[in-house]
Amino acid sequence: MSVSGRTFPTLNPATGDTICEVQEADKEDVDKAVAAAKAAMQLDSAWRKMEPPRRGRLLHKLANLVERDRKLLATLESLDTGKPFLQAFFTDLEGSIKTLHYYGGWADKIHGKSLPVDETFVCLTRHEPIGICGAIIPWNFPLLMLMWKLAPALSCGNTVVIKPAEQTPLTALHIGSLIKEAGFPAGVVNIVPGFGSTAGAAIASHEGIDKVAFTGSTEVGQLIKEAAAKSNLKRVTLELGGKNPCIVFADCDLQLAVEEIQKGAFYNQGQCCTAASRVFVQDRIYEEFVRRSIENAKKIVIGDPLDPQTTHGPQIDQQQFEKIIDLIESGKKEGAKLEYGGGAVGEKSLFIQPTIFSDVKDSMRIAKEEIFGPVLCIFSFKSKQEVIERANNSQYGLVSAVFTTSMDRALSVSGALETGTVWINCYNAMHVQTPFGGYKMSGNGRELGEYALAEYSEVKTVTFKMNDSM
Ligand code: ADP
Repeated sequence: MSVSGRTFPTLNPATGDTICEVQEADKEDVDKAVAAAKAAMQLDSAWRKMEPPRRGRLLHKLANLVERDRKLLATLESLDTGKPFLQAFFTDLEGSIKTLHYYGGWADKIHGKSLPVDETFVCLTRHEPIGICGAIIPWNFPLLMLMWKLAPALSCGNTVVIKPAEQTPLTALHIGSLIKEAGFPAGVVNIVPGFGSTAGAAIASHEGIDKVAFTGSTEVGQLIKEAAAKSNLKRVTLELGGKNPCIVFADCDLQLAVEEIQKGAFYNQGQCCTAASRVFVQDRIYEEFVRRSIENAKKIVIGDPLDPQTTHGPQIDQQQFEKIIDLIESGKKEGAKLEYGGGAVGEKSLFIQPTIFSDVKDSMRIAKEEIFGPVLCIFSFKSKQEVIERANNSQYGLVSAVFTTSMDRALSVSGALETGTVWINCYNAMHVQTPFGGYKMSGNGRELGEYALAEYSEVKTVTFKMNDSM
């Protein structure tokens, strides 16, 4: 029960129906969660005394329980987000299980160094948990984004307070029961479903929380960093928005480029921070690229997310729906050429047609603002130098992609792009072993891979004075 006794409904975006009521956490509930996380972090607690291999085994056990309940979790994710069931099953669940196993493997391999200093001292470093880690999760990949934060935090020996997005709390709540079943000590993981401006803000400004990890919009990321700075300077990692450039050179495998970019633009109804949102195509192949993109878009199947044939579901909620429609209308007004789609599917639903604009100019709103919807914007370019400048001309720097068969060009362009990830001849190629994060206003810090361990550890230098010299 929440302290206030209040609940909030979580809706199925495909139908508008309420799935169920969820207890609504607020500041007082966050305080209780922090107290529990603090107790679980005391020096003599079961969690602090647990040997690292045992921490790893608990993460592997949780991975196995997620695998056992994979169909249930994929169904909950599909109902709560509107994403097609098969995508939830094969992407979100697969990624979640891999993330738990990967960081389960790290738990007993996290270690410091012994450092050479002058001869009367011996110095070593210890990599210690930071303490209580807050995690604020978005609604586009609710379970996967939770795992990207939970798994490295626990692997490093921290305790956590997690707030799922108010639109999509259900999979996080089921994970709560699996964490108990796996046998994690009480208080190590605390899940507080609630709203951003209440429960989320309470995490960001809490004096008892040592680190906050956030995935969501750049605007809210700024609020979180500000709240962290004004409270206790807690550590902050942020995964924020993107306006991700794809560069398609004339020498590329054109069909591959069309298909990968389209997946990039329309996957998860375009609700991805990695969405392929600015597609620069070299002038010689521009018309053919546009033609094939339209052909390819015709294969998309819009429908009930639980139907295995469906590849495209509804947007998450009315607010996002209206924002996307407004941006599509701005594209039409500002003179982009509408090639495909361009509006809602039917009346009174949250479904939006996959939409393709060509002749997009860098100054248009659809070229600059993050749309977070199924809109593919195609631009034309002439030279390599010109396109690099235009690609980098953004406040964001999350991901980019280059399509070319020239190894030299792929290497030189990937070196010049100001983004945390560059994909060559592929898109959305995410791996748990490789770091993910943004340059510029797309974020701070890195998730995944060995790099994420540094975001969940403090380094302590221990220096011994030797009085017994040779
Ligand atoms: P979107 O705009 O895509 O809905 P948000 O960045 O608003 O994404 O939301 C992502 C997460 O941040 C959600 O869990 C939401 O509740 C939370 N959130 C929103 N506003 C705040 C805030 N002021 N402080 C802390 N968390 C917030």
